[in-house]
Amino acid sequence: MLTGRRYLLAFTPEQETFAERIGDACRMVWNTGLEQRRAYRRRGAFVSYVEQARQMAEAKKDFPWLAEAPSHTLQQTLRDLERACKTHGTWRVKWRSRRMNAPTFRFPDPRHISVERISRRWGRVKLPKLGWVRFRWTRPLGGQLRNATVLKDGGRWYISFCVEDGIAETTPNGKPAVGVDRGVKVAVATSDGTMRDRWFVTPGEAARMRRLQQQLARQRKGSNRRAATRAKLARLNARVRNRRSDFLAWTADRLTRDHGLVVVEDLKIKSMTASAKGTGDAPGRGVRQKAGLNRAILSKGWGGLLDSLEHKARYNGSRVVRVPPAYTSQRCSACGAVDAKSRESQAVFACTSCAHTGNADVNAAKNILAAGLAVTGRGDLADGRSVKRQPPEVKAA
Ligand SMILES: [Zn+2]
Repeated sequence: MLTGRRYLLAFTPEQETFAERIGDACRMVWNTGLEQRRAYRRRGAFVSYVEQARQMAEAKKDFPWLAEAPSHTLQQTLRDLERACKTHGTWRVKWRSRRMNAPTFRFPDPRHISVERISRRWGRVKLPKLGWVRFRWTRPLGGQLRNATVLKDGGRWYISFCVEDGIAETTPNGKPAVGVDRGVKVAVATSDGTMRDRWFVTPGEAARMRRLQQQLARQRKGSNRRAATRAKLARLNARVRNRRSDFLAWTADRLTRDHGLVVVEDLKIKSMTASAKGTGDAPGRGVRQKAGLNRAILSKGWGGLLDSLEHKARYNGSRVVRVPPAYTSQRCSACGAVDAKSRESQAVFACTSCAHTGNADVNAAKNILAAGLAVTGRGDLADGRSVKRQPPEVKAA
């Protein structure tokens, strides 16, 4: 199966400057390519990757900054653009700005990449035009190299290798099913009553973040001090992000190892976190509360958990099923009665129809499990039926 391995790069100052320029070139190719695609669409026409790549090769004669970048990374950018336009539609694909998009570029051809280990702690990779670049050898590559992506994150440069690890998709593990609620109070609650949570930001870090943000507000735009503060903030945010992705990977691994079927709510993260501001004519209500919830949702990393679950499930012989979220937090998992009043508080569920009381997130997780079992059309995976069987059409409950 294909998997990713990320390492911290140690560029020389020259290499770093050059990497920034390659990132700039790819960003400009993306934006120019997108502009052209939109112009064609306005005329009811279409431009293909092949045509865009041909024009880009021509343009290299006139633009030295384009010619100096490795041509495969530029072509890959155009390929990525084509895929993005096909998936999301030409009008919904976003421009890339220098401020909002950290540089990233991919070397798609493994024949142009060599990786060597040079000491216990260091490895090096040879990349087209950049030459040998050293990186921190924190774990073995563990498979056959497919491609490499260079990216900047939190002020540091990384290389991410895509490798074929030679591990075949695992057969179903035959373990019981579980429902998972991705709560706001705790990160993850399961139908068997397990809660998994951790703080991603320590109180000290939160205080430091606030202080840096205040500093930033006082500093003059474009000043060196402001740039230094921004870099410190980026470093801090990256640390929090890493901690969160460690937690998500660990949680996803445990859930898929212990369970043959993991049921989660198919929440449309995008629309849930969209601002409640509303339009001029219809101003939204509860804008403040919504903003707070947004932060809570994003800081628990819902989207990331789903990605991790699906990745780990393939290794652990498990399966992830999404069900539409329908009253999972208001429905009683014991008697099935739906009543908003049953949700006594954020933490406690007390059914208004029967005597059932319990943790609200666990109650929701049980409802999610029940919905998942209904959708997959089987009582439990442990009954030995094939997991390959297609589930029936999902109808909104
Ligand atoms: Zn009840």
